[in-house]
Amino acid sequence: MNKQELEKIKQKALEDHIPIIMDDTLEVMEEYLREEKPERILEIGTAVGYSAICFTEFLTENGVIDTIERETKRVKEARENIKKAEVEEKINIYEGDAVEILPTIHEKYDVVFIDAAKGKYPFFLKEALRMVKPNGIIFADNILYKGYVMSDYNKHKQRTAVRNLREYIKEVSENPNLETEILEVGDGLAVSKIK
Ligand code: SAH
Ligand code: MG
Repeated sequence: MNKQELEKIKQKALEDHIPIIMDDTLEVMEEYLREEKPERILEIGTAVGYSAICFTEFLTENGVIDTIERETKRVKEARENIKKAEVEEKINIYEGDAVEILPTIHEKYDVVFIDAAKGKYPFFLKEALRMVKPNGIIFADNILYKGYVMSDYNKHKQRTAVRNLREYIKEVSENPNLETEILEVGDGLAVSKIK
């Protein structure tokens, strides 16, 4: 991977207000990825490819990342960025709505990273559980959503998102096959290890 290009990609994404993964969240994920040495990663929410490019460093030699993005303009920019970072052979982008694309994927993954529409997290979890390998990990970014999720204030506009994020937390916490931690890094990161 070309690190200088990666830094440029990050700066441009920040200037354009693309909600890329926060530095502290990325650091935590990298620690897990270093240990996991994934062969296949599934990412839901590519944006401009920043996190996917970062993750390539932790793949096994022939490892790949499948990532899904529904906004055409972002897909185009992600493809350009992936090329600039020289990781084209490691990242495959699916263009379209993850709600439609996920049920068509019949692969297994060592790591699933959920980072898209918050109102769809319970659905993404169901699909992630179907595709994740034993001993794999499911990450969910923005799980605490600016603190709304853990507060009792219920009247904001983002009510549906908050309800679904709470449901996600409840499901991963109660699932006996998972060992889950909710970390207060960045905008909140749920880490669920498959037992
Ligand atoms: N993982 C990226 C950031 C993703 S931001 C990074 O850290 O670099 C979330 C992205 O998910 C946005 O680009 C948005 O367009 C996309 N998204 C939201 N809901 C989606 C859905 N249902 N299907 C596909 N993409 C979706
Ligand atoms: Mg995010």
